[in-house]
Amino acid sequence: MPFTNKKVLVLGAGVSGISVAHVLQNKGAQVVLSDAKAEYLFKNTNFSLPRECGVILALGRQDEELLEGIDYVVVSPGISIHIPLIAAAQNKGITIMSEIEVAYRLCTVPIVAITGTNGKTTTTTLVGEMVKTMGRDVVVGGNIGLALSQEVAQVKNDGIVIAEISSFQLEGIIDFKPHIAAVLNITPDHLDRHYSMENYVAMKERVFANQTQDDYMVLNYDDPIVRDMESRVPSKVFFFSRQTELTTGIFIKDGIITINWNNKVIPVCSVDQIQLRGNHNVENVLAACSIGFLTGVKLEDMVQTIHDFSGVEHRIEMVMSIDDVVYYNDSKATNPESSIKALESFEKNIILIAGGRDKNTDLTAFMNLAHEKVDHLILIGEATERFKIAAQQHDVKNIHSVVSLADAVSLAHQLAKKPQVVLLSPACASYDMFRSYEERGRLFKELVCDLK
Ligand code: ADP
Repeated sequence: MPFTNKKVLVLGAGVSGISVAHVLQNKGAQVVLSDAKAEYLFKNTNFSLPRECGVILALGRQDEELLEGIDYVVVSPGISIHIPLIAAAQNKGITIMSEIEVAYRLCTVPIVAITGTNGKTTTTTLVGEMVKTMGRDVVVGGNIGLALSQEVAQVKNDGIVIAEISSFQLEGIIDFKPHIAAVLNITPDHLDRHYSMENYVAMKERVFANQTQDDYMVLNYDDPIVRDMESRVPSKVFFFSRQTELTTGIFIKDGIITINWNNKVIPVCSVDQIQLRGNHNVENVLAACSIGFLTGVKLEDMVQTIHDFSGVEHRIEMVMSIDDVVYYNDSKATNPESSIKALESFEKNIILIAGGRDKNTDLTAFMNLAHEKVDHLILIGEATERFKIAAQQHDVKNIHSVVSLADAVSLAHQLAKKPQVVLLSPACASYDMFRSYEERGRLFKELVCDLK
């Protein structure tokens, strides 16, 4: 076993850090779990599990003494590799790795890795559903659910791991080599942490750095930055495109999702069979089909899975229809770009509930679209004033401000008439009124269900 009798320092005592500490200790390593935050500041964290299995806790400190005798430092995704303690570890020649590198070293089955700025969870979940039809033991992890190291520790020999990977996790890989990987898209994001777009792209490209000709790389042909990666990919490239009929890869021809691979043309199904709303989700489905195809999912099972897949909670999730008006929960849209995707997914007649903790991002494109498509804009939370001014500047119709989500739902219900839809797509973080976007989305759904 790669970690037996090794001394490992795990940095960051979040969900991922606790999981990896626990897994490594059980695999025979001696683990110290450290966090700069003191124990009393962790409100909902239970440290009994790592403690009981022998992990040493070093909370409330981040000093160099922690590096004494350490073989490996494992960095949680929430921690930047630019902190002084990591520089000190590097100077001492200690190997530094991320949690997914640990997962890779413990994993005995193939890994599928899905990365990109947007659409990771949706695509990863759909791929998981497709691959399950093969009767293999499938674990879906990474940013979703349990930490990947914990998932791979449980997978059976015939299994496969489908992992959602963020660029933060790619920062600390060494040998990580997915058999199939995908980059869905790249837009400026997290630049605060990666410093420049070049750096961010380079980080995403690490996903294929260790691949060989026996592996596959799925790339979005429609995204110029992603398309450009082809020349640097050491494995076989499989392109997907929503906009262009490709000579090889997957694309749309006369409304039919079509694969052309090794000179064989395979019609998959009509785009109309996709339940998910929006072109962005067509792209996610194309990416998922690419991976499903390369994994060996049977065509009929792929089609059935696409047909049955209604999406992931809080992402333009259909809640219910009341008096012929459908209510959608898009609470995951925590910035204007995501809310733009939601607005683009409907023709018009939207009653939009937006607002929350303002990220002070540019609202021009968002309000231009709202002017076109929104019949009533209902604003909540700290962002209300700035959103209201921007909406007025863009001639958005019927602007309302209310004090709570309950009032917003109630007002939307009073206003809404067929063919309108009610959409919660806040374009803001939730922390002014809620603990998370999940809590906001769940309350929205409860309030809508109460209307009935
Ligand atoms: P991630 O896991 O990368 O955050 P999700 O699948 O959770 O992605 O989707 C989050 C949001 O990102 C969605 O609500 C939508 O606004 C946007 N989105 C999803 N897929 C795409 C895509 N393929 N291209 C652009 N934006 C997307």
